[in-house]
Amino acid sequence: MPRQLRPAIFLDRDDTINRNADLPDAAWVGRTPGDLLDPDHVHLLPGALDACRRLADAGYAIVVITNQGGIARGGGAIADIDACNDRLRGLLAPDDGAPPDSAIPAPLRPTLVEACYAAPHHPMGAVAPFDSEHPWRKPGPGMIESACAELGLDPARSWMVGDKKRDLDAAITAGIAPDRCVMVGPTADAPDLSAAAARILGSDPTPGDSTTVTLRALDGRPLADSRTRETVLATARAIAERTGVDLTDLSATDSSVTATLAAPRLAALGFLAELRRLTNAWSIAKHARDLWPAADHD
Ligand SMILES: [Mg+2]
Repeated sequence: MPRQLRPAIFLDRDDTINRNADLPDAAWVGRTPGDLLDPDHVHLLPGALDACRRLADAGYAIVVITNQGGIARGGGAIADIDACNDRLRGLLAPDDGAPPDSAIPAPLRPTLVEACYAAPHHPMGAVAPFDSEHPWRKPGPGMIESACAELGLDPARSWMVGDKKRDLDAAITAGIAPDRCVMVGPTADAPDLSAAAARILGSDPTPGDSTTVTLRALDGRPLADSRTRETVLATARAIAERTGVDLTDLSATDSSVTATLAAPRLAALGFLAELRRLTNAWSIAKHARDLWPAADHD
């Protein structure tokens, strides 16, 4: 049985979670303005922390994906990206508590952020090996695709939030539906991450749902017949495949079939109704009798 994939919120970093465009000139000394590579200038935008807390509480993995072409432009080193991302992870703490214990290395401190991915490449850069286009560099989908593969994330149940079109384009290419891509900014649909979180949580009230449903036979032990059992199980898998429902467990006894789906209860009951309808039709054609009661489910 494949592992259960999880929903994620992919977040652009600069001007989505933390300030960038309105930072003082001191942030850019020796660098192209916008190339934020100094952790002392990492400051959360208003509402970002609370938004991340609400999204994490709802069951989403929080994953940051950021273009950092300043490295290719010679404005810093990979270690500077890591320092800024560590600072960001520390600011996005799961709860209000004591300041982080400085004895704990920054990457190990409690944080709402499951992972940060950064693309240091830029085709106009001068620093090898980052001086070329790369699949990780947005609008390329590489960072999201890598995160999904490495962290077990489901793009179909995930969202993207960013302040640039290239953020959204990267997500769409990686398999996130356009209506699950939220642009933030003063002129965008959602002015900030807090508004984006409200929209996401309003659309997906229970993203981490897992629902188990069972069909019980009308009478007897019809699934003791291996042909019947295999037909029921194959039909369940086919419905999941056709509808895109994530079937995380499927089992049968001689008199029942039980499915666990990574879906809200309403969707799971729809799955069950379709399984009942199709396998009853098959059974009537084959054995002139229903397998299941017309509407008995739990
Ligand atoms: Mg940005």
